[in-house]
Amino acid sequence: MNELPFEGRTAVVTGGADGIGRATAVRLALGGARVFAGDIQSREENNQRFAKLGITALVCDVRSDADVRKLIETAVAANDRLDILVNNAGIGLVKQIPDVTEEEWDRCLDTNFKAAFLTAKYAIGPMRACGGGSIINVSSNAGLLPRAHDPVYSTSKGALIALTRSLALCHARDKIRVNSVCPGPVGDTGMMNADLKKAIDPAALADQMIDASPLAKAYRRMITPDEVAEAICYLASDAAVMVTGTSVAIDGGKSLGVPPK
Ligand code: NAD
Repeated sequence: MNELPFEGRTAVVTGGADGIGRATAVRLALGGARVFAGDIQSREENNQRFAKLGITALVCDVRSDADVRKLIETAVAANDRLDILVNNAGIGLVKQIPDVTEEEWDRCLDTNFKAAFLTAKYAIGPMRACGGGSIINVSSNAGLLPRAHDPVYSTSKGALIALTRSLALCHARDKIRVNSVCPGPVGDTGMMNADLKKAIDPAALADQMIDASPLAKAYRRMITPDEVAEAICYLASDAAVMVTGTSVAIDGGKSLGVPPK
């Protein structure tokens, strides 16, 4: 097995400052990729590690066409190529439809869904020019099986899977593969920590989330960002050369159905 599967490759990871995105940026860089991590926030705590691994952190709001274009163009300019794109930036929205404002709908759909259109729009040309590439969209178990507590989030993640399949179909001829990963519950991420912090009883909520995923329940722990990053790196690698249009659930079986008691 090649120890540096991504040597000579250029990768863009959105939402790369924290959680699953940061774990993915680090893994890709450890595998030899030149990584550009775009995020709306810049976190000083990443500076040392990112510098060591040659990861370039850029401020980018994935809802903005101009920001996304700049992120992709900056990455391409480094080595005149783009091989890997990980659409990971995302936000949650726990609200019932009658209470959701138009602004909240737009923020959630633009971050979780429109952004993947914008990145693809600018990434496909450079990927095609270097003979192919791999796009990985970070969806959710909620994209496979909608959840009653977050209908807008579930819709955004389901739409992302639909985009994944369409793009996979359209760009196979360019040797551009497009896949999704569908994680959850993933612990130790910005999103998860914020959700737990808001809860009246964080430990009870964590238990509830663990119990909703058969394997998480069996192991009595959440999935780690690294476990999701591992699947993303497989899909980004040459080992997955014939894999496109799939959705890989890294959810301990959560999206399979109602678990046994
Ligand atoms: P996280 O909050 O640690 O990471 C999300 C990152 O996206 C953050 O760094 C945030 O700053 C960035 N971001 C948010 N809005 C942005 C914008 N407009 N432009 C650029 N960057 C933006 O949370 P995470 O759990 O690592 O989430 C990563 C992805 O995984 C998300 O798409 C999320 O929906 C998905 N996901 C997470 C879980 C989970 O249990 N944690 C489950 C299923 C899916």
